[in-house]
Amino acid sequence: MDSLLKHMVDMTGHRDHAMLDISVISAVHELARACRTRILTVATLRGHIFVRPRSEIVGDGAAAMIELSDLQQPGEPIDHYPVLAGCLARHDTSAAMQGDDGEHTLWLPIWLGDKADTCLEIVSPAPYDPAAIQMIGGVVSVYRNFQNLLDYSERDSLTGLLNRKTFDDQLAKMLAASADQDVLPLPDDQERRSHGEQERQWLAVVDVDHFKHVNDRFGHLYGDEVLILISNLLNTSFRAQDRVFRFGGEEFVVLLRSTTLDNTRKIIERFRQNVASHDFPQVGKVTVSVGFVSITAFEPPVIVLGRADQALYYAKSHGRNLVCHYDELLSEGLLHSTASNDTAEFF
Ligand code: GH3
Ligand code: MG
Ligand code: MG
Repeated sequence: MDSLLKHMVDMTGHRDHAMLDISVISAVHELARACRTRILTVATLRGHIFVRPRSEIVGDGAAAMIELSDLQQPGEPIDHYPVLAGCLARHDTSAAMQGDDGEHTLWLPIWLGDKADTCLEIVSPAPYDPAAIQMIGGVVSVYRNFQNLLDYSERDSLTGLLNRKTFDDQLAKMLAASADQDVLPLPDDQERRSHGEQERQWLAVVDVDHFKHVNDRFGHLYGDEVLILISNLLNTSFRAQDRVFRFGGEEFVVLLRSTTLDNTRKIIERFRQNVASHDFPQVGKVTVSVGFVSITAFEPPVIVLGRADQALYYAKSHGRNLVCHYDELLSEGLLHSTASNDTAEFF
């Protein structure tokens, strides 16, 4: 019981999803006397369900997050997990299976309404006794409620997108990750470079064009609806590994993870076109302008944001409904690099 309480205190002391994951699998792993415990992300991509581990603990080892670079894969198709697939299809709270090797696997999807995008997977050499399953069920419920609370504090209430505060945290993490990559190239990095463009992290600032007109002509309620619909288009146009934030008012920021310049431009252009071709109820046509820039590890967030904002400003003053890349404008002499003091003033 002491150990259960210790785990609960540890779990509820975190303000970060990744740390919460680590503490829940540590708790469950110990309580179940498991030989392997994982947290799986269950994601739907173009109508297909994929399963991807995001943290893992094996034997007596410490819990570990799965490396960022590995997160770029969509994961394994759910067909590789037929018992879990059945459990999810039936909206069951658990499913168990004994493998050919005699090991017992227990899956516990974390249901939020009718969606489960997280699932615990526990593998044990011995069958689970009912008391242990009950205790694990309790830990999982605390985990679900706490994940819900974290989600609530990280998101904007109108659009459900991640909020400004979360952006600050995630950009800092991304800068740290790209610093690691700059110092320690990935094993396949050399190959990737010689085969073409280098993968990088990117930041894009999106601003709705002439949004004041929308509010003035149709009222704030229709304005709000446009913001919700644009948020949906952001979610569907960008990839699962990218992060979309409502930065304030009618401004959004997207962090695109490890991709090439060509790909980044394609993805952002696709979003711009999706907005331009959408029919907004009552309001009709709405467009967006975007400025984007690559994220460099050793530059402060305010500089990176300032550059994206300069590219956005260029798009605004050259007809709107445009996607502009800061470095390209710079190399063509259409923009001048700002000293850090000027950029700080920007904010
Ligand atoms: P531009 O193309 O230059 O961006 O023109 P704009 O009209 O979009 O200019 P600006 O960015 O200055 O205007 C933003 C407007 O967005 C002003 C504000 O009233 C409105 N706005 C900000 N937040 C919200 C919101 O949550 N709901 C609604 N309906 N309107 C909002
Ligand atoms: Mg604006
Ligand atoms: Mg605007």
